[in-house]
Amino acid sequence: MNIAIIGTGYVGLVSGTCFAEMGNRVVCIDIDENKIDQLRNGQLPIYEPDLEHYFNRNTSEGRLTFSTDLADGVSHADLIFLALPTPPGEDGSADLSYVLQATSDIAELINSEDEERYRLIINKSTVPVGTADQVRGVLENAGLQAGEQFDVVSNPEFLREGVAVDDFLKPDRVVIGTSSDKAANMMTRLYEPFVRQGNPIVVVDERSAEMIKYAANSILATRISFMNEIANLCEKVGANVDKVRLGISKDHRIGRHFLYAGIGFGGSCFPKDVQALHRTGRQHGYDFKILDSVLEVNDRQRQVLAERVIEYFDGDVSDKKIAIWGLAFKPNTDDIREAPAHVIIRTLLEAGAEVVGYDPEAIETTRNVFGDAIDYADDMYGALNDADTLVVCTEWNAFRRPNLADVRDRLAQPVIFDGRNVFDPKHMAEMGFIYSSIGRPSLPPESDEDAIEEALAENGQPA
Ligand code: NAD
Repeated sequence: MNIAIIGTGYVGLVSGTCFAEMGNRVVCIDIDENKIDQLRNGQLPIYEPDLEHYFNRNTSEGRLTFSTDLADGVSHADLIFLALPTPPGEDGSADLSYVLQATSDIAELINSEDEERYRLIINKSTVPVGTADQVRGVLENAGLQAGEQFDVVSNPEFLREGVAVDDFLKPDRVVIGTSSDKAANMMTRLYEPFVRQGNPIVVVDERSAEMIKYAANSILATRISFMNEIANLCEKVGANVDKVRLGISKDHRIGRHFLYAGIGFGGSCFPKDVQALHRTGRQHGYDFKILDSVLEVNDRQRQVLAERVIEYFDGDVSDKKIAIWGLAFKPNTDDIREAPAHVIIRTLLEAGAEVVGYDPEAIETTRNVFGDAIDYADDMYGALNDADTLVVCTEWNAFRRPNLADVRDRLAQPVIFDGRNVFDPKHMAEMGFIYSSIGRPSLPPESDEDAIEEALAENGQPA
């Protein structure tokens, strides 16, 4: 099938590459000339595991191409996907200006063609309920005939950054929102190769499809905030949130996903989508109370660790050097949008601390935000040299089993704040660390230096 993807970001590039992998001919469009130059030169503008492999294969076999000219996409494609930003507007509702402007530009290009042709305009961006109708309205106002020249489809995307390629190639489900049988058939044909193992293609009306995406993200965000509240209470009553999680996750009605306590959710989706759904409620006279709390809890949780660090140093970190492990909003991505690490860094900088950050992939994206307000380490251990404490903000695998003898040698003080519960509190105490994590009791560090040396020599790696 001939496909155009408008907007070649995390979603657009992954979708375009994976559609091409199934034999489709895909043109990805973006207004960012640097990005398109990079892509044409064979370089990926984002870090996403496995993407390079599929990108190389499909570009070299000519199925995946790139352009800054929207006309290249429109003239090529029968299926035009919008994978454009929908950032929060001033009042928290999703800003649809990218989507509606691109739709109007597409309409103009279609109108300038000599031959009449049927196309699908497919919304992959996360957009509020009613957007498909607005998109259809823009196309009709430009004189195009719905059902004859075009149909609008809502096709929300559920990929997770960090495992985006795998998610796209093997989705749990595909949601297609349309009231046109012809559009539903074309979309089903496109997606069948992705669900060969039997996962469903769910065909619904446009409004339900739009709501499904917000409902999915909001319920996941709610679980995170709920578990963070449980963790905070565990700390007060002397329970351990890890054990609580194990105990509840075996209940099949609850399941095991999204039950990890930490320093809150970030990224380009959860915060903005929860906010946008809340706003949709308001616009329809409905006060969606849970969502307000989910966001409030998350805002508070993202500050917990910074506050704890400042408190540990008696309220004054102005002469302290603080090492941060993990700058991306989650592991296996270089995306730093709404990253809890960045919230923590901002608070520490405001309090006068010196900050040195390390991340396997997100140094450059972080440098774009903080410039030289913080230092950047070349490797995880280098970040620790003479730092007064280490704060773990993202659970990259490399942080799970570090050489703790080396960590202790390098830190000026053996103090670790762990926002992702990657270490075992008992083990850390045996290794002589003052160790604070989320929702788990802190144990006093072993005070016998000989015992600590022995433990570190025997097992610098945590159990
Ligand atoms: P992104 O910011 O990474 O990419 C958007 C791209 O669109 C950018 O490259 C930008 O230059 C380009 N662009 C802007 N205006 C354009 C125009 N007029 N023509 C062509 N290109 C233009 O965003 P993203 O993370 O890929 O998200 C896109 C949409 O998908 C959003 O609505 C988001 O909520 C949704 N979504 C994102 C994810 C995710 O994990 N990132 C997952 C599911 C859904």
